[in-house]
Amino acid sequence: MSAILEATSLNKTFGAVTAAKDINVAVAKDEIVGIIGANGAGKTTFVNMVTGWLPPSSGSIKFDGKDITGLAPRKITRLGICRSFQVAQVFMTATVFDNLLIALGIADSHGFAALKPLRVADREARADAILRRYQIHDYRDQVAGTLPQGIRKLLDIAMAMVAQPKILLLDEPTSGISIEEKFGLMDIVMAALKEDGVTVLFVEHDMEIVERYVGRVLAFYQGEIICDAPPAQALVDPKVIEFVIGDEPQGQMMRERAAVQGGAQGEASDA
Ligand code: ATP
Repeated sequence: MSAILEATSLNKTFGAVTAAKDINVAVAKDEIVGIIGANGAGKTTFVNMVTGWLPPSSGSIKFDGKDITGLAPRKITRLGICRSFQVAQVFMTATVFDNLLIALGIADSHGFAALKPLRVADREARADAILRRYQIHDYRDQVAGTLPQGIRKLLDIAMAMVAQPKILLLDEPTSGISIEEKFGLMDIVMAALKEDGVTVLFVEHDMEIVERYVGRVLAFYQGEIICDAPPAQALVDPKVIEFVIGDEPQGQMMRERAAVQGGAQGEASDA
């Protein structure tokens, strides 16, 4: 596998707290990776190190073969790793369209391009195309602060994608979204990201979302990756059930499913 992202022997300590312990993980282009773990397990620390928000205490991170360990977030964004936060980072008093234009303006703002006015025809056309891709064009002229939560989330992710990153890290994309809305929102997001050909890593507490949308799960516990496997395997792993999803809303369901699978395996080996 040729890795687009590779963390090697990554460690992070805060005084006596070990937030990342010997993380070794390689992610291939186009993978969709779910990062799970209980509160304080080290998920955000990992994302922060990959995006340059925190320097690791030791170890290295490579992106597309280039060492990016400890680079500033702006440099890492420019290289092609972007992130979106749990709480949508949008300009609440600006319209959806203007939010997109501002994000595109920032993404374009290097060299002489920084001197271009914000409203130029090609940028406006790009903004409209992105709004259509994320199915929020109907909200184009609405002020972001008045948007339903799910639409604001879509806008936030669309804004994170304007720089055309190769890797996107999402922090709990369905947090604050109703049960009725969450699959619809994720269907739109995942279809758009697939079209853009971006590798996705997202932190998620909702195991139904993990099960449905990721190809691979990284389960964190006390700063370590305790399981790295496809969801069908990871979500019934006894360690993952004990240390990660036991307290999550779907924990009971996952435990029951693991028990059924364990029983079936037992019966098969008895036969
Ligand atoms: P959550 O789901 O609550 O966001 P998490 O899995 O993202 O949790 P982290 O935020 O990465 O966990 O935290 C891992 C550990 O590192 C925790 O014990 C946390 O208290 C500690 N930690 C994180 N950031 C800092 C910091 N800046 N200073 C001190 N300790 C920190």
